[in-house]
Amino acid sequence: MDLGITGKRALVCAGSKGLGRGCAEALAAAGVELVLNARSSEALEATAEYIRTTYGVPVTAIAADVTTDAGRQAILLAAGRLDILVNNAGGPPPGNWREWHHDDFLAAFEANAYSAIAFMKETVPAMCERGWGRVVNITSVSVKQPIGVLGLSNTARAALTGFVAGIARDVASQGVAINNLLPGLHATDRTIGLDSFEASMTKESVEQVRARRQAGIPAARYGTAAEFGATCAFMCSQHAAFMIGQNVLLDGGAFNSTL
Ligand code: NAP
Repeated sequence: MDLGITGKRALVCAGSKGLGRGCAEALAAAGVELVLNARSSEALEATAEYIRTTYGVPVTAIAADVTTDAGRQAILLAAGRLDILVNNAGGPPPGNWREWHHDDFLAAFEANAYSAIAFMKETVPAMCERGWGRVVNITSVSVKQPIGVLGLSNTARAALTGFVAGIARDVASQGVAINNLLPGLHATDRTIGLDSFEASMTKESVEQVRARRQAGIPAARYGTAAEFGATCAFMCSQHAAFMIGQNVLLDGGAFNSTL
């Protein structure tokens, strides 16, 4: 399917690895010029070069932290005009809610709510003026199905979800489609870290934890970053213009519900 976005310009935040990288590659395959971000420049430059050579699109790599004002300003300065925004950041650490303090909640809010809100505030008005834009916020299945050890994620992502529900409808008539994409378990570094955390709690091996978690997914496996990226690219396409303010779950059927 031609996604109809060749020549558009996208910022993919936190995109040197994992789900963000999957989104970047799928957009590049659709002919989208990229501004790619992560904090550490080594992996970022390697991913940017891979995408340039594999897909033949221009890629501007900008190493910066999306959780800081200075980082976001540096990214926006390097980015220039943007038609597509994919918001993403590392997830908060797992733990026990009894041990989380004010600073932990603020850090989670900065990373998994405010960074996305700030990027939307900076870029969506210009998309509206040009009459075309797409925003995909990578959130989590935890928005629908809270995960006990990820209470910081449950909290911050609920805040972003609430904000998006309002802004998406406010700008829909101006050609801008804003939606959230909710990953269930995908095979990335983040999932390896969470499998290891659970293994340390339950005294199982990491392999046992992984097998048990995969068995709990109707698709009987973790998702891939490529599958996630393909869905993101569709949500950024011409065909997704009527998809507004949705929370699209990609979890292999793990969330058990009819609707
Ligand atoms: P990942 O494989 O660990 O990759 C994280 C990427 O984000 C890396 O490129 C990392 O590069 C970058 N990054 C992290 N913090 C950043 C920051 N402050 N500023 C800029 N870049 C940053 O993680 P993932 O699995 O792709 O997860 C992406 C998001 O989806 C996370 O919020 C995660 O909690 C959420 N999620 C993932 C799953 C899953 O199964 N994978 C499920 C539910 C939700 P640097 O370290 O160099 O910055």
